Amino acid sequence: MKPHPLPKTVAPLPDELLSGWLSRLAAANYCDDAELLAHIKIDTAHGTALDFGIDAVAAEKIASAARVAPDVVRSLTFPAMTPREASLTAQMPFQHCPQCSREGLSLRHWRRAWAFDCQVCGTRLVQTLGKDGGEQMPEKLINRARHGAARLEYAARLRSLRQLRRAMRAVTFAISLKAFRGDPAYALQSHKPEVRLFGLAAIDAARSRPLVKAAISSSGIDDYARVALLRAFEKEPRLLVAVDHIAQRRARSTGPTTAESRN
Ligand SMILES: [Zn+2]
Repeated sequence: MKPHPLPKTVAPLPDELLSGWLSRLAAANYCDDAELLAHIKIDTAHGTALDFGIDAVAAEKIASAARVAPDVVRSLTFPAMTPREASLTAQMPFQHCPQCSREGLSLRHWRRAWAFDCQVCGTRLVQTLGKDGGEQMPEKLINRARHGAARLEYAARLRSLRQLRRAMRAVTFAISLKAFRGDPAYALQSHKPEVRLFGLAAIDAARSRPLVKAAISSSGIDDYARVALLRAFEKEPRLLVAVDHIAQRRARSTGPTTAESRN
């Protein structure tokens, strides 16, 4: 059974995400997201559940309620992705543009780990659950992170496994120094600005300064960082041996006091 068309409809904007458009549609019709989805008879309370794939029946229901073509509805979801691309695309919003959000927008590119500045208005994206404007991040770190984000985007667009591996290796190592215990792809989607910025900046740094050199010169490398470093190189046995050798030599020559941070 087709739902009744809504009294008001809104046209989707370029790069708008399905869940964001549904929220605008709900607001235009003076209801909330859950009420809108219930009216359209879609079995979920959250539009975000539809962003990564919507079945033909649901697309048809939304289309007829909003008086648009089903293809338009489907075009607001993410297309099929490679596993690597999927790991760098957040399932839930983690950052947003403070300017565009005020107008109720939610855009697709914000979900990408490499998105840094809003493509619509140029404002730097901010973490959605992060502390609000608390501490100021150093401008130098922000610029480095912006360059790293651009490199990551380039590698993702090319679908270059070699470049993506190199980027994620840099992130793995860098975040271990920040005592972040987790997957590097998640670190780039972190709600903590310092973790995300540091990870992205490392991608840029790794280009001008190979990781092996970074391992030699990094002070305060602890056991976890060493393990992370080894994990980062596990698919390249020759490099792995070299890096482990360096790490062990460093540990022997400098003794246990290096565990203290000397930044
Ligand atoms: Zn914006």
